[in-house]
Amino acid sequence: MTTPLVLESPVQMAAWSEAQRNAGKRIAFVPTMGFLHEGHQALLREGRRHADVLVMSLFVNPTQFGPKEDLDRYPRDLPGDLAKAAAEGTDVVFAPGVQDMYPKGAQTFVDVEEVSQGLCGDRRPGHFRGVATVVAKLFNIVRPHVAVFGEKDFQQLAVIRRMVLDLNMGIDVVGFPTVREHDGLAKSSRNTYLSADERARALSLSRGLSAAVSLRATGETSAAALRAAAYAQLSGQVDRLEYLEVRHAESLVPVEEATAAAVILVAAYVGRTRLIDNMRLGA
Ligand code: AMP
Repeated sequence: MTTPLVLESPVQMAAWSEAQRNAGKRIAFVPTMGFLHEGHQALLREGRRHADVLVMSLFVNPTQFGPKEDLDRYPRDLPGDLAKAAAEGTDVVFAPGVQDMYPKGAQTFVDVEEVSQGLCGDRRPGHFRGVATVVAKLFNIVRPHVAVFGEKDFQQLAVIRRMVLDLNMGIDVVGFPTVREHDGLAKSSRNTYLSADERARALSLSRGLSAAVSLRATGETSAAALRAAAYAQLSGQVDRLEYLEVRHAESLVPVEEATAAAVILVAAYVGRTRLIDNMRLGA
């Protein structure tokens, strides 16, 4: 297990990638905000499978946080992250500072219009603009052949896929299934905020989605009925439900019948912590 090379400078990162490309190497890239858990590690392993060299970025991107969100208290653990990245065979950890990524006077942004609307897009104004812009910048610096993203952030994955297509970025975007705790809770860096009582109540998200998946397996396709099955688990457990919706898995448009490719998505506050989760509603 070798320690990854840690690069802070975008110029150095770009030079490293250029050298790899010139040597005919295929580059995989996993963007993260750090505080790595097994979900991130699974993404790194997936990246390794697709390429010769593996780059992970570690950047808590301020432009994707709203003014009242948790930017200041977002958990950080650089030594732990480096050890986990090393364990997965990461070659480079790209960890730029905010000034490196956003030099004074920056005025160019990426807006992915329709897919960014509704769901988290409505609840977190400007969030996907921040995500798309930073990911486009990271792609331009790292110049990967393939990039791996978690299905946990389902709308984010759809936004990135659309951006890559629309802007001819020519990067292979790989989506990876959500990694869960033994009891079903989706792994998240934000789970660390939860008290024991909140942790127990947070389980209602995955329980609710699973109830909808089970109902769908009986042949029920009505989005309203599937939503109601999920809601029954969430009700009384979460402190504020932001959304619970059945949508088409690719276009993310709302559907009334969960036929071919549908997904049920939830966002809810448990205490002060905002959690998201989703599950595909199989045929
Ligand atoms: P973050 O550090 O939260 O920005 O996440 C970095 C990447 O890890 C994103 O592509 C996320 O979708 C992905 N990710 C986060 N949690 C999980 C999980 N539980 N399972 C799989 N991927 C995840």
